Amino acid sequence: MSWTVLTTKQSTVLWRVILYLDGKTKRDNDPFRNSEWGPEAAEAMCDQVRDFPIVSGGTTPLTMGYLIDWTPKELISKVMLEEKVFETWHDCRTVLIGDACHKFNPAGGLGATNAMHDAVVLANLINALPDHPIASDIENAFQAYKDERISWAKDAYNSSKSFRDMTATSYKAKIIRLGARMMPSWAERKLLISSENRPQCNFLPLVTNTGSSPPAAQLSLFAKRPQPDEVSKDGNDSAAAI
Ligand SMILES: Cc1cc2nc3c(=O)[nH]c(=O)nc-3n(C[C@H](O)[C@H](O)[C@H](O)COP(=O)(O)OP(=O)(O)OC[C@H]3O[C@@H](n4cnc5c(N)ncnc54)[C@H](O)[C@@H]3O)c2cc1C
Repeated sequence: MSWTVLTTKQSTVLWRVILYLDGKTKRDNDPFRNSEWGPEAAEAMCDQVRDFPIVSGGTTPLTMGYLIDWTPKELISKVMLEEKVFETWHDCRTVLIGDACHKFNPAGGLGATNAMHDAVVLANLINALPDHPIASDIENAFQAYKDERISWAKDAYNSSKSFRDMTATSYKAKIIRLGARMMPSWAERKLLISSENRPQCNFLPLVTNTGSSPPAAQLSLFAKRPQPDEVSKDGNDSAAAI
């Protein structure tokens, strides 16, 4: 189990408690049981961490119990977190984006950004579909979307996993934290490579690149509607040109 306390610019305090599940605790915290989602489940979890110390400043040592009691009950909830990049992202005319096709540990703070990146890439490809797309046009566009996004999703998954390991209380986590503190700047820059993933919508005015590193290549930025002379002989429009 690990716990995190953060202060914000608005002088409020955010806290969270994470219980890592193994074979036994997974059975006790069955995500398909309705009782696991109610206030009682959140309260039971809070009770387990009341005595955990927190860095509070001042002279009085504080524990998580203080924070729990100061927090309005309706703001405390328990959620089940899964971590996985799924293999299937689309089928026929159905396509998945965001957490539906890749779930990351929130320690990395990458879930919402990647969901938005999915939406941008998919929007470019849908926008480039011919006026009367046939099934294969749609399937090709969805496959191009997955091809462009999956390696970024896998990177984000691995990076979130590293941050998750870093915030745990095990010896392994302590060693990782020590390594992170002593990390040379070239390794830090390598870790930040995901910041080069800044996809844009090609049907909106492009944002000027002001980052310290150039944006990574984005195939869907060049996705175009097929021109009339690209319409195939059998009368159907051809697949979205990329
Ligand atoms: C504690 C925590 C902290 C996080 N911190 C960060 C962070 O700092 N940075 C970051 O980038 N990401 C963070 N994330 C991850 C981020 O919240 C998710 O990755 C992101 O919200 C995924 O967006 P989504 O649209 O794919 O799914 P969701 O945001 O889950 O949206 C899905 C929506 O579908 C609705 N829905 C579900 N079933 C149905 C149905 N049958 N009919 C109609 N509607 C339905 C749901 O109610 C929900 O509104 C955090 C997540 C957690 C849990």
